[in-house]
Amino acid sequence: MSDHIDDSSPPAEIDDTPTVSCSRCDHEWDLTYELDDLEVGNQSFEQFALDHMRHTGHFPDGISTWMASCRRCRDAEQFLSERPARRWAETHARHTRHAVELEHADEESTTVTPE
Ligand SMILES: [Zn+2]
Ligand SMILES: [Zn+2]
Repeated sequence: MSDHIDDSSPPAEIDDTPTVSCSRCDHEWDLTYELDDLEVGNQSFEQFALDHMRHTGHFPDGISTWMASCRRCRDAEQFLSERPARRWAETHARHTRHAVELEHADEESTTVTPE
């Protein structure tokens, strides 16, 4: 007795040509060449996002950033991952005794308070 698995359906085509778009710039970029050159996968996406941030002051679409913003002095930074965002928040909280809010699109915001 064997279960016949119907595998006649074609394997899912993975169309993952990495593109980045930015609605603020109304522009789209193809990252394929960067992937070929660097073979760093998702990292080139992050690298692009960071470069874009440096040049334009904002992140392109599809980037879920961690935002650390001080409730007191409105100092704020955006990060691509939680760890540096949390470090920034903890450092700021420790130095200034301010409470810093950590926000992410997919997470509940947390508050880092000075110890
Ligand atoms: Zn842009
Ligand atoms: Zn502050």
